[in-house]
Amino acid sequence: MSQTQFASLFAMLSYEQARRTVIEQVAKAKRPRAKSSVSVWDALGFVLAEQVKTDREYPPFDRSTRDGYAARASGAAPGATLRCAGEIKAGDTVAQPLGAGTCVQIMTGAAVPAGADAVVMIEHTHRDGDMVRFDRAAQPGQNIVPRGSEAKSGQTILSAGMRLGYAELALAAQVGATQLCCSAKPRVAVLSTGDEVVAIDQSPGAFQIRNSNSVSLAAQVRLAGGEPVLLGNAADNVEDLRAKIQRGLQEDVLVLSGGVSMGKYDLVETVLKDLGAEFYFDSVAIRPGKPAVFGKCGDTFVFGLPGNPVSTMVTFELFVIPAVDLLSGATARDLPLVQAKLGVALREKPGLTHFLPACVDWRDGAPLVNALPWQGSGDIATLAHANCFLVVDAKQEQISAGETVRIMLRKDVT
Ligand code: AMP
Ligand code: MG
Repeated sequence: MSQTQFASLFAMLSYEQARRTVIEQVAKAKRPRAKSSVSVWDALGFVLAEQVKTDREYPPFDRSTRDGYAARASGAAPGATLRCAGEIKAGDTVAQPLGAGTCVQIMTGAAVPAGADAVVMIEHTHRDGDMVRFDRAAQPGQNIVPRGSEAKSGQTILSAGMRLGYAELALAAQVGATQLCCSAKPRVAVLSTGDEVVAIDQSPGAFQIRNSNSVSLAAQVRLAGGEPVLLGNAADNVEDLRAKIQRGLQEDVLVLSGGVSMGKYDLVETVLKDLGAEFYFDSVAIRPGKPAVFGKCGDTFVFGLPGNPVSTMVTFELFVIPAVDLLSGATARDLPLVQAKLGVALREKPGLTHFLPACVDWRDGAPLVNALPWQGSGDIATLAHANCFLVVDAKQEQISAGETVRIMLRKDVT
């Protein structure tokens, strides 16, 4: 096998085109997804494989949304006085209809008795012994959520393909769905490469570095909704790379770091090609992250991400997340770019879209962002003090203070 460098086969894509390519290719590869039953306590970040239906109407009774007095709106006129016939707390069984000419004290979340059509906030009443005087006109229906108005019995309230966040989990819990049928998380093999890389629990020699990429990648896989499968590090030789890549090809996705640049020992593409991979792109017009590679080998989608740590992180965010989304049974999330005002003027070389470590703050109401001084794509220390990437368009060279720019938030820390 040749060990020559792997010249680019493709025109360089913009990051938007590269993302579209990932989405198209992964969406095309329809495959049956394994399902598993997951406790609602553990299902955060899973994607639903089957719908969830309500077990009864919601709310199950006419529910008061305020502390106050339940009454007939027509009787609770400004200046009118009604006798308070009792009290209803949240959770109380309510069987008695409201008696004529009376009101009843009611708490938030309690059931409104038949015959009452309004709840008057306690703030708009005066109590004197058993008698309640009303200050202002009541409207029929006020401060009452009618039975069945949020959902009918047997109605689908969560659909297959929905990502489960805290509100979705609470909704499932509300309807008694304690076990949820979810898509199995896609398994994402993480393999770093490089003769200089040692495991994080080893002490590196003077010219070696610890394998931090496998740690950031595993974290990013988890945040994306995948299950990381850690394969350690492959040395920069064809034999070791080949064996470890073959192991990675047993999973849904293989993410490699390093070995995709133009150096003599950047062998990832050569080995993948030899194993029968087809490639969809092998460079993207971004910095950091330009040599990023995406392809497919057998049924496994393969990402060859450049090894400089910030490049690895940025390219994962841009390209791997949509693949994990689709393989989870969800739709691919859009890239959430947010507008912010630039604090300090910037100058970048045009031609590539730059993703610069930056800090955004909202203290004055509107987001204000500044790029952080950094040492380039190896500088994890700067990124660890950043909460976003400032996205400098490929055509932009000079951006003045006060101009509107776009940022990509680090969702893990903001
Ligand atoms: P490469 O993309 O293989 O040329 O790697 C570029 C640089 O990224 C290397 O010189 C290392 O400094 C750094 N690097 C590569 N792999 C890792 C890793 N697993 N963890 C941390 N840094 C890495
Ligand atoms: Mg390398």
